[in-house]
Amino acid sequence: MKILIIEDEHKIAQALKEGLEQESFAVDVRFDGEAGLQAGLFDDYDLILLDVMLPKRDGMEVCRELRQNNIHTPILMLTARDQNRDIIQGLNQGADDYLPKPFSFEVLLARIRALLRRPHEAISTVLKVADLSLDTVTKEVKRAGKPIKLSAKEFALLEYLMRSQGKVLTKNNILTHVWDFDADVLPNNLEVFISYLRAKVDKPFKKSLIHTVHGFGYKLGESA
Ligand code: CA
Repeated sequence: MKILIIEDEHKIAQALKEGLEQESFAVDVRFDGEAGLQAGLFDDYDLILLDVMLPKRDGMEVCRELRQNNIHTPILMLTARDQNRDIIQGLNQGADDYLPKPFSFEVLLARIRALLRRPHEAISTVLKVADLSLDTVTKEVKRAGKPIKLSAKEFALLEYLMRSQGKVLTKNNILTHVWDFDADVLPNNLEVFISYLRAKVDKPFKKSLIHTVHGFGYKLGESA
């Protein structure tokens, strides 16, 4: 899952990026409203963290522009403490949720997870496909009841595949959702990561869940 942070305070932005990366998110940062808007319009993110007070264009404007351009990515707005006016305006401009500064990282993480949950996952933090399960909070992955140890990137890759279960994903799709913009990852590297994942998630079990769709990319599901 890839997150865009639009925040002009470098220290905060850096701390958020590091914290979220530790939770296996891919994170891009932009330091002003204009650069943030461009990234939001032209790259594909799963969630946007948007500060209100920003140089060049403020968070309200960025939010409004994104929605007017049919970008429906969940937006979590970071507002000044107790600025009800900001909160109301932000929600009216199409933000999905807000968090007053200063906030605790744990609360931020919980809000992010809530926004990323699709309706049918609303009561659980566990993604399931056949006998494979992945807990987005405890990071536990199990297949047929047996725990599977994954690296952070393998986990992020599997989470994205599981959230998109049954859909054919192009290599580019996967690269843009699992690796951040600065990462030098080539489609060949992705093949390597897929092979690591298969060795852990599929090979020891009888049935493959990760399928290659020739000429397109990959799909995770019970059937090929
Ligand atoms: Ca700011």
